[in-house]
Amino acid sequence: MADTRIENIRRHLETLVGERNPFSSPSALHAAAGYLEHQFRMLNLSVLTEDVVYEGAESKNVLGVLQGEEKGAPPFVVAAHYDTVEGSPGADDNASAVAALLEIARLLGSAPLKAPLIFAAFTLEEYGFIGSRHFIEQARAAGREFSGMISLEMVGFSSAKPGSQTYPAYVDASRYPDRGDFIAVIGNEPSARLTQAVAWGMRGSAPGLAVEHLVVPGRGDLFREVNLSDHSPFWQNGTPAVMITDTAFLRNPNYHQATDTLDTLDLALIDNVTLGVSGFLKSYLGSSHEP
Ligand SMILES: [Zn+2]
Repeated sequence: MADTRIENIRRHLETLVGERNPFSSPSALHAAAGYLEHQFRMLNLSVLTEDVVYEGAESKNVLGVLQGEEKGAPPFVVAAHYDTVEGSPGADDNASAVAALLEIARLLGSAPLKAPLIFAAFTLEEYGFIGSRHFIEQARAAGREFSGMISLEMVGFSSAKPGSQTYPAYVDASRYPDRGDFIAVIGNEPSARLTQAVAWGMRGSAPGLAVEHLVVPGRGDLFREVNLSDHSPFWQNGTPAVMITDTAFLRNPNYHQATDTLDTLDLALIDNVTLGVSGFLKSYLGSSHEP
């Protein structure tokens, strides 16, 4: 089982890693979108796309939807952005999370769910959450709401070296590990219950994974580091949302560099995140009439 998961994760990474930027490598960005659409279809998800235009560059959000049993129940969203900054192959940022997203979708399979689950591959996160903002604006205009959201943001880098983990000044570092070998679940106050549920669910489903969680005060607007992903537009919309992350530049020296390559990744960490998040989703959204 673990072998199959790791093999799938590696195959997704080998396909995706490489600069995927709307201005310097648009064909790679479009190819990644095509790959995601194809993978979602192979998993029998209903596929929707949303065209996003930003400064003349066209790209799209790719959404795979797993239906729920209860009519009208608001969907839950699990997301990862698939674009990169210019000049980086984006292995950790964010091919790691896209690979996890695809493997989570496979593990959910045709699990009976109460509410719909949307697997969202967002475009242009690197330009200020353009894709996820577009998604939220479309939903708001149509009067659609979401029960919650998880943003997978860099889930593939670890280090067991003492001192390899750093923290922003507003986090009490003495309460957290100084080695970067855990995964973090970050929420704001309106998302406090979801943050706890995700952290507990992940610990229960992936015993080999160290999970730390943090709830920042208020809506979290004042804390730059914890806002840097696609959950941010959901926070602004009032939707409970968490970011699951290896903490990016607080740990990974290859962040936004040409050195963010596949060989620097910890595939066992990505596998554990996949296991943890899929286990959480099955119990959190699982149907009560399951046989
Ligand atoms: Zn990112």
